[in-house]
Amino acid sequence: TGEPMGPRDLDASLLVVEENKDRKAPPPSSTLVFGHSFSDHMLTAAWNSKTGWAPPAIHAYRPLTLDPSSVIFHYAPSLFEGMKAYKDVQGRLRLFRPDMNMKRLNNSAHRIALPPVNGKERMLHGVPSEPGYSLYIRPTLIGTQAALGVHPTNDALLFCIMSPVGPYFKGGFKPVALEADPTRVRAWPGGTGHYKLGGNYAPTLRPQMEAASHGYQQNLWLFGEDHKLTEVGTMNLFVVLQNEGGNGYEIVTPPLNGTILPGVTRDSILTLARDHYREIEGLPSAQELTVSEREITMGEVQQAGKDGRLLEIFGAGTAAVVSPVDRIGFQGQDIDIPVGPEGIGKVAKAMLNRMNDIQLGRIEHPWSVCI
Ligand code: PMP
Repeated sequence: TGEPMGPRDLDASLLVVEENKDRKAPPPSSTLVFGHSFSDHMLTAAWNSKTGWAPPAIHAYRPLTLDPSSVIFHYAPSLFEGMKAYKDVQGRLRLFRPDMNMKRLNNSAHRIALPPVNGKERMLHGVPSEPGYSLYIRPTLIGTQAALGVHPTNDALLFCIMSPVGPYFKGGFKPVALEADPTRVRAWPGGTGHYKLGGNYAPTLRPQMEAASHGYQQNLWLFGEDHKLTEVGTMNLFVVLQNEGGNGYEIVTPPLNGTILPGVTRDSILTLARDHYREIEGLPSAQELTVSEREITMGEVQQAGKDGRLLEIFGAGTAAVVSPVDRIGFQGQDIDIPVGPEGIGKVAKAMLNRMNDIQLGRIEHPWSVCI
């Protein structure tokens, strides 16, 4: 009696559902452009530092109303996640490793003094069932306190929107060319590159435009005097090398040293390559394959290219799973990377197929969670 209650946790059992009566037919799957159409419902939950989480609600997709002094507009306390829901052959909905996105969301929240989220995703309608189609899920958490001044926010808003998306590679693989400009830095030790914060992305837009004006689709983000490779655009990076002397291969990805976003796809490819390589068609046999999380420099990539030992480079992320790279512009020269007649290397293709099989439930795997 009179005892103050602690702030409330986010409680999915209190979920309020207000059905959108004005439901429109989803656009034909064949016309979908990534991130341009949204499901007709969204989830929101408001948080306050004294009272905690208000009951979450699912309601019609609609604009947010925020005070212009809200901290989000000035100091960018904002984080997001990106994951996909797939419809399997039996019509069940599946998420891919949602626990990893939840964990990363909470790590990001902690870094910018936003509240932790302990809820579970709730799925609605609108997951396209055609092969290669999925529902992209975008949970977002922002500071909303209406007051200028740089300090931890007392108010926050969690919202989740969903976007039906089509296959990334329609009509064949399209390898990308990267510009590696050492004067542009995405992340640095002690910085926030390993969190998925909105503020990490706006500063990448001008370099991306510059790369495009030079004929490259994406930036290859380098770090340090020795030009270490870190990430590709908004993807993690894999390099496949033939060992010196010729016998065996190495799959290399940069280590999680604070400048690399810990991608769910990155972790999955590493795990598959380490544990399941025997089962993956197209991969070299176990004795020949080394899987390395280690630093790799442009010098090493250039040398491997000259020696004919540079076999593949690809990006890895939720949107495309893998994205083959066929050219890197660095210090006024282009390094060509083989992609074979299909536009995708053997390792990237084996990983893509395996990931698709797991995501769609064609191979039963604990990573694919029916909901
Ligand atoms: N790096 C960056 C900078 C990203 O934005 C993303 C996309 N979340 C990734 C890597 C890939 O992460 P994931 O495999 O979890 O999609």
